[in-house]
Amino acid sequence: MLKEVLSHIFREPATRKYPEVRPEIPEGFRGRQVFDVSLCISCGLCARDCPAKAIEMVDVEGKKRPLFHLDRCIFCYQCAESCPRNAIKSSKIFELASTDKSELVVEPKSGRGN
Ligand code: SF4
Ligand code: SF4
Repeated sequence: MLKEVLSHIFREPATRKYPEVRPEIPEGFRGRQVFDVSLCISCGLCARDCPAKAIEMVDVEGKKRPLFHLDRCIFCYQCAESCPRNAIKSSKIFELASTDKSELVVEPKSGRGN
């Protein structure tokens, strides 16, 4: 019993000290989408192929652009695969938890990196 207790005291903790210690995010991590409106041709393939129906095509300055509902998104990145212009990219942004659902709506604003 004592041996068991001592082994637990000196063992490396299984938990991480997040958020005090920031985690290292691996390459290829699928975080929040980054959308580059300047590359988008309004084809709608991203919305068509999204398995979670998390993309809504909305009107921005007379053109249809994708709006992301992150509360529905499963971060599969089919949208990026389907996009013929590489306008949707993954990011290392992962801290998306919110008590306000409206913060999980990513609107396609003009300019890069919305
Ligand atoms: S990552 Fe997947 S679920 Fe999320 S918007 Fe893109 S296609 Fe839809
Ligand atoms: S698939 Fe790409 S180019 Fe087509 S609407 Fe979506 S973001 Fe724009």
